[in-house]
Amino acid sequence: ANDIKEEQGFKGHDMLAPFTAGWQSNDLHPLVIARSEGSYVYDINGKKYLDSLAGLWCTALGGSEPRLIAAAVEQLNTLPFYHSFWNRTTKPSLDLAKELLEVFTAKKMGKVFFTNSGSEANDSQVKLVWYYNNALGRPNKKKFIARTKSYHGSTLISASLSGLPALHQKFDLPAPFVLHTDCPHYWRFHLPGETEEEFSTRLANNLENLIIKEGPETIAAFIAEPVMGAGGVIPPPKTYFEKIQAVVKKYDILFIADEVICAFGRLGTMFGCDKYNIQPDLVSVAKALSSAYMPIGAVLVSPEISDVIYSQSNKLGTFSHGFTYSGHPVACAVALETLKIYKERNIPEQVVRISPRFQNGIRTFSDSPIIGEIRGTGLILGTEFTDNKSPNDLFPPQWGVGAIFGSECEKRGMLVRVAGDNIMMSPPFIISPEEVDELISIYGEALKATEERVKE
Ligand code: PLP
Repeated sequence: ANDIKEEQGFKGHDMLAPFTAGWQSNDLHPLVIARSEGSYVYDINGKKYLDSLAGLWCTALGGSEPRLIAAAVEQLNTLPFYHSFWNRTTKPSLDLAKELLEVFTAKKMGKVFFTNSGSEANDSQVKLVWYYNNALGRPNKKKFIARTKSYHGSTLISASLSGLPALHQKFDLPAPFVLHTDCPHYWRFHLPGETEEEFSTRLANNLENLIIKEGPETIAAFIAEPVMGAGGVIPPPKTYFEKIQAVVKKYDILFIADEVICAFGRLGTMFGCDKYNIQPDLVSVAKALSSAYMPIGAVLVSPEISDVIYSQSNKLGTFSHGFTYSGHPVACAVALETLKIYKERNIPEQVVRISPRFQNGIRTFSDSPIIGEIRGTGLILGTEFTDNKSPNDLFPPQWGVGAIFGSECEKRGMLVRVAGDNIMMSPPFIISPEEVDELISIYGEALKATEERVKE
């Protein structure tokens, strides 16, 4: 198993290629995707793949929803672009803001600010919170607490908030105003004999101790994904958010829900906040907002915050922040149609119906000697490969167990996300029962092949 690059051998596509997002080069023999249909994508040679990650956790309605294409074309024919600066805007942008405020019900939100991505949404959160605290005359309440293993994006600030070492090392990050507290991964981090509830209590106590040590008057906000995604699909342990929210409230610290992956039905509820009873002050969304047909993100801001920002605008000056493409009319038109479809088809309910087949089906492989843990909820699932069923017995990284599994899936016509020995899947919301069965069958075959190769 030492030389996966050699053994992989098919089409020369290299699962261990360096991080290439953004960089494009034929030298690296990339897998080139040419078209999509429902839950499937096809490469330039016509090979079909079940897209178990829905692109990057985002093509929620699959790859060929005609209504989204029609919405884009209609808007392109009417008004391909106008900006949203200086109190000028477009109707799709206004309508989408209104719709988002209606659809998010975990707490009443006051205003929506549009971005082009999840990273920009989280960067915008930081500016909004700082502006808010400056307006309230507390400029020192500046620090952000995030969690290790979280992912909040790739820009300087969103990468700082993220808790993944690869995003910090070599970049002189995180920025000094960002602190990290515990990752709520019970299986990996609980103490012997500790229940999930006790684990959550300990993590909430650790958070409180960090706040006291730093000085509560210096902490502006806490940010969390309802279910951690890129960090390995980590759902919260029992009572976690209840206890964390109590601590945050006690010290007048804002709660930011990063719903970039969880929103719009992925967990079987419209938002992750609905599932875990989170009442956030600010929310970030992106990805499934437009089913990824157009790049768009948004920040939802509570009325308490937006009122301060608006009423203080004369004293502090305008909230000088925005992007050329904030509220892009074509992206907004597509997102509006996306939300309409989620409502009409009752997508969260659909996810509730299909997800047991997916979650239980994959869990039939729990006994595999190379699987440490399978975790997830709704249509998001992570598999972690470890030896001896133990979180501590990691396979040597040079074995590339996760990469072997990923390439065995790819050979058999399925794309999964590989991050070290973590495998992640988040299929489109529209996945059919037959497609779930196919997904499970390919997973099982790829697992068997991986077990064989690990034994060698
Ligand atoms: N937040 C979360 C939870 C994410 O999963 C991601 C992307 O995967 C982001 C933020 C960043 O979004 P984007 O890649 O659109 O900038």
